[in-house]
Amino acid sequence: MATVAIIGDGPAGLSAAVFLAKNGQQAIVFGQDKTAMHYAQLYNYLGIRDMKGSDFQEVARAQAADLGAELRDETVESLSMRDGRFVVRTDDGTIDADYVVLAGSKQVKRLADELGAEAPEDRLRIDTEYRTSVDRLYAVGRIARPGRSQAIISAGAGATAALDILSREAGKDVHDWDTPDEDSAG
Ligand SMILES: Cc1cc2nc3c(=O)[nH]c(=O)nc-3n(C[C@H](O)[C@H](O)[C@H](O)COP(=O)(O)OP(=O)(O)OC[C@H]3O[C@@H](n4cnc5c(N)ncnc54)[C@H](O)[C@@H]3O)c2cc1C
Repeated sequence: MATVAIIGDGPAGLSAAVFLAKNGQQAIVFGQDKTAMHYAQLYNYLGIRDMKGSDFQEVARAQAADLGAELRDETVESLSMRDGRFVVRTDDGTIDADYVVLAGSKQVKRLADELGAEAPEDRLRIDTEYRTSVDRLYAVGRIARPGRSQAIISAGAGATAALDILSREAGKDVHDWDTPDEDSAG
């Protein structure tokens, strides 16, 4: 089981946590629920016709926690490496992690800078799986696409990074597919 530190608790971070925890990884989400979602009214999130962003957050946090993610009400202050693992220091302690998913707003870019992640023109370089130039460091959500922020895109990015981590851990491509119970199949 890999330990994945997810820095940021908006749609991007919680989506990554759902996929990782549901598939047996230790997903630790840092944040104090200060997401911009609390200002949003969602009409453009496919599958949701009309929902307050705060209600979305409440459901998403509970979903991640029910699937086994650990939600920590802490702010991450620094990131470093020790013996090939990440050291995540918060305002309340330190954890070691095998992977880090940066899922915050622009402020978390400083953490990527501390690890030397490439950022030409002050924008993090990421690939299609949201990998940065630092091995096992991902950047999803607002930090990955500054100026073009939508909740559904953040959630998709978190899921993409999580599937990449699951695939790396499994050593082969991984889907997270479920099917209805016999009783509930329409
Ligand atoms: C007024 C307004 C209306 C909006 N309306 C819509 C809309 O109708 N539809 C839509 O799709 N989008 C809307 N948005 C945009 C939407 O809120 C964002 O797209 C979404 O919140 C991005 O999610 P995210 O997970 O990428 O980042 P965020 O939601 O910004 O989450 C990042 C989280 O990381 C936390 N964090 C940052 N640094 C650290 C750290 N060092 N340690 C721990 N935690 C940290 C932050 O506090 C925050 O909680 C709206 C935004 C605003 C402001």
